[in-house]
Amino acid sequence: MLKITSGFILGLIFGLTLETTNEVFAPLGVIFMNLLKMIVIPLIFLSLIVAVNHSNPADLGRIGVKVFPIYVITTAISVAIGLIIATLLQPGKGVTFSNDITLTIPERQGFLDTIINMVPTNIFKAFADGHILSVVFMAIITGLAILYMTHSTDNKQQKMGNTLMTFVEAANEATLKILNGILEYAPIGIFGITAATIGAQGIDTVIALGKFIVTSYLGVILLLVVFYPLILKLWGGKVIQFYKDIKESMLTAFVTCSSLGTLPITLKAAKTAGIDDRIAKLTLPIGATVNMNGTALRLGIAVIFASEIIGVSLSPVDLVSIVVIGTLAAVGTAGVPGAGLIAMAAVFTQAGLPIEIVALTAGINILVDMIFTLGNVTGDLVAAKMVDLSERRYLAKQKQ
Ligand code: ASP
Repeated sequence: MLKITSGFILGLIFGLTLETTNEVFAPLGVIFMNLLKMIVIPLIFLSLIVAVNHSNPADLGRIGVKVFPIYVITTAISVAIGLIIATLLQPGKGVTFSNDITLTIPERQGFLDTIINMVPTNIFKAFADGHILSVVFMAIITGLAILYMTHSTDNKQQKMGNTLMTFVEAANEATLKILNGILEYAPIGIFGITAATIGAQGIDTVIALGKFIVTSYLGVILLLVVFYPLILKLWGGKVIQFYKDIKESMLTAFVTCSSLGTLPITLKAAKTAGIDDRIAKLTLPIGATVNMNGTALRLGIAVIFASEIIGVSLSPVDLVSIVVIGTLAAVGTAGVPGAGLIAMAAVFTQAGLPIEIVALTAGINILVDMIFTLGNVTGDLVAAKMVDLSERRYLAKQKQ
């Protein structure tokens, strides 16, 4: 952690003091992102098959049933927190925008599409495109198939199942070794990303949208110091220890702006935080794709921001519908850099707010994306910890 923090601080110093940080240091960061993206698919696929084989189907079902309501409820509350904090701090007051900004809205998936597309038509394409939910789906069914084979009464089936499992476990071990190597490089990668991003920010836009940036940071701080501790405490968790255990993944999320990219490190953090391996492997890859508390918070803030700029006030009914639309949009957002802008465009379209305001914030997006991604990844780990605490209670009761 010390090395990673040093990388971050050195990156900040270089980014703020040198002129040419972007060209010089960006490649160091790009290599780090590439390494993380390279390892994330095999890591999820193999470790999830192992996780499925080390649990029984009833456990899997129970974990799933527990985690989804946590995702949806925390996301909806995050939109509401965004609405409240922006109403109080008024980030859009005094901001003007010219009508000539244009924005092309990238295509985004709806909530239902996200679910449907989980089932791939071509498994190789799903792997090649890095479609995490499809990979999770394939890993679960492959894991189940092997599980049935290893428990078969037919000797031949059982033998083949065991061979396959030995192979998967061996490949999983090798992947973890590679991941350890990547983590050795992490401080340099984080230095590169920080130096390049900080160096690339135009100070003028930062000042103009200062209140939006400050509101975003305060919103996530509210999640971190009030909302997450509250629910962790309610579930019987130890808050400070939990944050100590997961700080590396929080910092990595902050600099990479990608929940998916951070996933290998999030999985490691879950282990340090004492989250049961099966729960972590099952929930975190899904959480990195569908559980977006930071993004949800952004949507709440952005709606108030935009309505202040154009001078309309929102009725209580509008606000409730924004919580619903925002939750669905956050679920449909991919855990990659910049995805929150797409979600913003989607919510603005539904809420009848000008899309141009999305473009207005695009210039400083990276600065807010950093903190929102940190909120997203922390939320994934909080949800995993809650399921873990609840499972421990359940299993202790079963034993009595
Ligand atoms: N960058 C965020 C993430 O990866 C998604 C977003 O842009 O809101 O979690």
